Amino acid sequence: MISKRDIEDILNDYDLDKLKICTLGSHTALQITKGARDEGFKNLLLCTEKAAGFYRGFSVVDDVIEIDSYNDMLLDETQDELIDRNAILIPHGSFVEYVGPDNIMEKLRVPLLGNRLVLEWESNRKKEMEWFKKANLSVPREFKSPDEIDRLVMVKFPGARGGGGYFLAKSGDEFHKKLEDLNIPEHIKKEYIIQEYVIGTRFYPHFFYSPLDDGLELLGMDIRYESDVDGLARIPSVIQKDIEICPRYVITGNVPVVLRESLLPDLMNLGRNLVEASKKLFKPGVIGPFCIEMICTPELEFICFEISGRIVAGTNLFINGSTYSNILYDEPMSCGRRICREIKVAIERDRLNEIIY
Ligand code: AMP
Repeated sequence: MISKRDIEDILNDYDLDKLKICTLGSHTALQITKGARDEGFKNLLLCTEKAAGFYRGFSVVDDVIEIDSYNDMLLDETQDELIDRNAILIPHGSFVEYVGPDNIMEKLRVPLLGNRLVLEWESNRKKEMEWFKKANLSVPREFKSPDEIDRLVMVKFPGARGGGGYFLAKSGDEFHKKLEDLNIPEHIKKEYIIQEYVIGTRFYPHFFYSPLDDGLELLGMDIRYESDVDGLARIPSVIQKDIEICPRYVITGNVPVVLRESLLPDLMNLGRNLVEASKKLFKPGVIGPFCIEMICTPELEFICFEISGRIVAGTNLFINGSTYSNILYDEPMSCGRRICREIKVAIERDRLNEIIY
């Protein structure tokens, strides 16, 4: 395992005047490169051949290293080059998915913004739930056995979020039939989770926690547009009932949203509880951006079902700032830019070690 100490040793040899903000060319790379530019840093993207042409077309991108596949990120020669170039990596959704939390823990020697331990907690459902419970958040009821199903449930599988064969069921019989018909590998079928389907409004708030000032900010909020479940809502129910469709929850886009203002204090408390719980579970806890996937019920209760401990794609809506970030900052503050601001302030205060692992 790569220890925090190993990373600090590498970081101590960095020439901070030549620091490069680096990530994989995908997901939120455009706002991260623009954020680096706005905060006075050079940036560097690792791209596959296909992505390289696309990203080179943007003037905010300073430099591109081409790799054959995202796995090459772990090659010694790639890592050595990044360290030589004084790169700090910004983890995003594609980065974590392509490189993998285990590889990041075991093999990645390049300094990463935030606490890399969070990647293990956000990618493992059991750990996520443990984190939620420690933070006293409400979570959907989980059914241990299909025989217990007494309401609408969502059946989930590990792997790609929302895409991997999720289905809805109202009874044990329906569960067994749908599981049998499902076209996914048998070993994955066995790893099902049966979760109460919570009816309400989904919200995906984008938080940013700065350990430098112990400050928690709400930078924005979105609702994910998921195909084809959201598209189905456009088909009247009289027609829907004649079509055999098992809706899927594959994210295809994001739409902006604001929360009833009277609910914002509760939301901020919830975010703060997660930060404090993370400090107890995996020291020094979550650092920088994180996002909770939640549903607000008609009783105005937040039920949380997932967490991402890094920048999320919904922040791409707010490259010029959001309703919330515009109140906090007198300048356009995207999440990518906020990350780079944190790095800049940490350098000014000689505290970079505290926000990097
Ligand atoms: P996930 O893979 O957990 O992020 O879930 C994918 C999508 O399924 C979410 O964005 C929601 O639209 C929906 N979803 C997940 N869990 C629940 C739940 N317990 N109740 C209702 N909808 C859910």
